[in-house]
Amino acid sequence: MQQQQLIDRYRRHLNYLRISITDRCNLRCIYCNPRLPGKKLKHKEVLRYEEILRIARIGITLGIDKIRITGGEPLVRRDCCGLLEKLAAIKGLRDISLTTNGILLEENIDSIKAAGVKRLNISLDTLNPDKYAQITGYAGFDRVWSGIELALEKNFYPVKINCVAIRGVNDNELEALAALSLTYPLHIRFIELMPIGKMAAPGGPPLLIPEIKHRVQTLGNLIPVRHTPGDGPAVRYKFENAAGEIGFISPVSNHFCRECNRLRLTADGHILTCLLSDIAEDIKTPLRLGLLDADLKAVFLKAVARKPFQHPEHLTPLSQPEQMVSIGG
Ligand code: SAM
Repeated sequence: MQQQQLIDRYRRHLNYLRISITDRCNLRCIYCNPRLPGKKLKHKEVLRYEEILRIARIGITLGIDKIRITGGEPLVRRDCCGLLEKLAAIKGLRDISLTTNGILLEENIDSIKAAGVKRLNISLDTLNPDKYAQITGYAGFDRVWSGIELALEKNFYPVKINCVAIRGVNDNELEALAALSLTYPLHIRFIELMPIGKMAAPGGPPLLIPEIKHRVQTLGNLIPVRHTPGDGPAVRYKFENAAGEIGFISPVSNHFCRECNRLRLTADGHILTCLLSDIAEDIKTPLRLGLLDADLKAVFLKAVARKPFQHPEHLTPLSQPEQMVSIGG
């Protein structure tokens, strides 16, 4: 085990790095990457894989032991699985996982498995193919569903389904989505919509976890599942005799900043200290200037020292990233 050196001012141990490998996505979800004009990174602005690997190795020597690859959509970047394999081989890394929209999962699943990834998060907000196309701008429901079935067949565990609950969009499907956990060993995670950046989701009162939970409970008793340190912010439950689980993630109604153990590496090479803050340290410039590992370690430590206790209570247009797709969720 590496010595944990990434401890912030609030005594939080930061052992979890989320790496966004691209700001590009093959979907245009209304709440994440809406069909609005937005600036994309130029090729040379994006960290190369060998740069990501070097930063990851340095993070691991400082105590990072868990990495999630995200995006944009990570599987749209060429040879994402090659990167996964190299990351998984780094000594000291305990856990590597991937968040994907699932569109390219079928053709990549064997390489993902071979790379050493055991856990997958797949985003799916609806079971209705037409609505899927409305939310994402692409008629891809069947592809994602086949990908989910294949992930179960190939024994990824757990396979978590990330479902952003939005009033007026998928709030009439909460029960049906939760019911998937009765028959499939899926972990269905309901996530409150975060009001980030430019969004094309309908307005109106937010749909929060207490209401979602109330609705889901019409299916049966929700039995609490014991929280383990790797669970992150999800509060876990299970229906009696269910194959899978339900998780509730409440970044809005009950944010979990106190337990935050995360740092993010953005596709353009910044260590971002909080999803909803722009406090970040540029690690790409010193890396490309040829600085030593010790200098890059110092960048990590500086970011950690600046990590805010919590994200701003009230998000203003200026305190937010442009769109979630640019930071990786
Ligand atoms: N393309 C991948 C995917 O779709 O899973 C990874 C990137 S995506 C930004 C990561 C997660 O963030 C997805 O599960 C997505 O649903 C979630 N997300 C995006 N925008 C969000 C928002 N405004 N509020 C809550 N979750 C959001």
